[in-house]
Amino acid sequence: MTTEQRAPMEAAAAGPTVARMVIGGESVDAADGQTFDVVNPAIGRTIATAPLGGREDVDRAVAAAQKAFEDRKGWASWAAGKRGRSLAKLADLIKKSSEELAWLESRNVGKPITGARGEVIGASLVFDYYAGAANKIYGQTIPVSKPGLDLTLREPIGVVGLIVPWNFPLLMASWKVAPALAAGNTAILKPASYTPLTAIRLGELALEAGIPAGVLNVVTGPGGTAGASIAAHPGIGKVAFTGETTTGQEIMRLASGNVKKISLELGGKSPNIVFADADLERFAKESPYSVFDNAGQDCCARSRIIVERAAHEKVVELFADATRNVKVGDPADESTEVGSLVSQKQRDRVKDYIEIGQAEGATIVVGGTAPDDPALADGAYLLPTVFDGVSNDMRIAREEIFGPVVSVIPFDSEEEALRLANATPYGLSGSIWSRDIGKALRAAKALQSGVISVNSNSSVHTEAPFGGYKMSGIGRELGMAALDLYTETKNVYIDLS
Ligand code: NAD
Repeated sequence: MTTEQRAPMEAAAAGPTVARMVIGGESVDAADGQTFDVVNPAIGRTIATAPLGGREDVDRAVAAAQKAFEDRKGWASWAAGKRGRSLAKLADLIKKSSEELAWLESRNVGKPITGARGEVIGASLVFDYYAGAANKIYGQTIPVSKPGLDLTLREPIGVVGLIVPWNFPLLMASWKVAPALAAGNTAILKPASYTPLTAIRLGELALEAGIPAGVLNVVTGPGGTAGASIAAHPGIGKVAFTGETTTGQEIMRLASGNVKKISLELGGKSPNIVFADADLERFAKESPYSVFDNAGQDCCARSRIIVERAAHEKVVELFADATRNVKVGDPADESTEVGSLVSQKQRDRVKDYIEIGQAEGATIVVGGTAPDDPALADGAYLLPTVFDGVSNDMRIAREEIFGPVVSVIPFDSEEEALRLANATPYGLSGSIWSRDIGKALRAAKALQSGVISVNSNSSVHTEAPFGGYKMSGIGRELGMAALDLYTETKNVYIDLS
């Protein structure tokens, strides 16, 4: 069955074709009535329209969020446990709506339905986690040098702006919205313009869960206008952003006007270090998914395989074989592992990198083209691509491609492996494969990255901190660490004399 034949079934689950923003508890159009098309990149067709929000809409959302924050009987004043119970209800509603949300995400991003289902459940677990965390945000009593009592209070910041990317729209929104609301803030969420649909549904479900109007507002629209207005707005006390490093730098500049608190989750060029003593079969079986999942559009993608020369040939052979078995196809097909990229523009960008790699002298071992299945001709597909003969100074090894492309780079010593791995302005993620635990731990300590896994593809857990070193970001999301991003600490000294 093709995507088109399946369309009526999907459409039934796809929600409205005219999406509206959520501001102050109302479903609203953009102030000037403008809209933009939301496209399913797997078939190249428009599936919805959404409001083209701008500065005026951000002003409206900030006013609604301020009103909700300042309400003396409102969200910020609720007992923390009561806020937690609302977040738990929202987690439940996400779970109950998981099929609808997963189809929305799959059709909007072009990602496989099975992956989208996992992400929706992941988002509900994030809300569950922060539902439980809401009444565990507490300060300290500090033995200061004077005889009085010194204590700290953890307080919400106020109105926070949350700007998220298109690769994992609902999941990235949950990483920000859940801790921000648990701490008592009110929020404006801005999804990427490619992918506004699940964010809008999240805003609607929050209202259904009993979260008061104005606590979670969703403004859709372009980064350069709606996003920039959030970053610069004097009524917003903090901005949390996930996206490209260059956009993060612009947000820092925009946020400086009122010295906003900032947290940034940015790009990556993560290493996958394979020592010759590793379980090479297991590495090769599992690791294609560490770079080709989500069509490589993953900030944690292990896009550089840094392999000990003694195992180089074997690793390339095993990894290439495993890559040929990755199933690329229609996102609606339950067996598909890699779907479409998010847009034709993104596919063109990745294709340019494939040409750059060839011009730089690297060799394509697998992939490098679109699939030849005519049923996929209208989508933004690309086959998982493995480059061998790469050196770390090539552009394909230095720049974030954000597509299904991996570079294999050999090394001769542990020291060289770590030097190559760290020779990047990024520092988000990375994996180490070895049976020698001492060597693996030395490498884990030496890597300048925020999230590292040993003999495993992934190091992302709801309960554990996530974030980047160097130009991969500022701050740590997830776990209890995220609550630091959404609270102010107030020190109070009481003279007891
Ligand atoms: P992007 O930077 O283009 O856009 C991200 C968001 O910022 C979107 O909502 C966009 O509309 C908005 N935006 C764009 N320009 C803006 C501006 N001037 N002011 C305010 N907002 C603006 O990124 P993308 O293409 O959507 O996402 C891909 C990037 O995100 C990759 O670089 C990837 O590595 C990164 N990413 C990082 C993480 C992480 O946790 N570190 C997670 C996912 C994605």
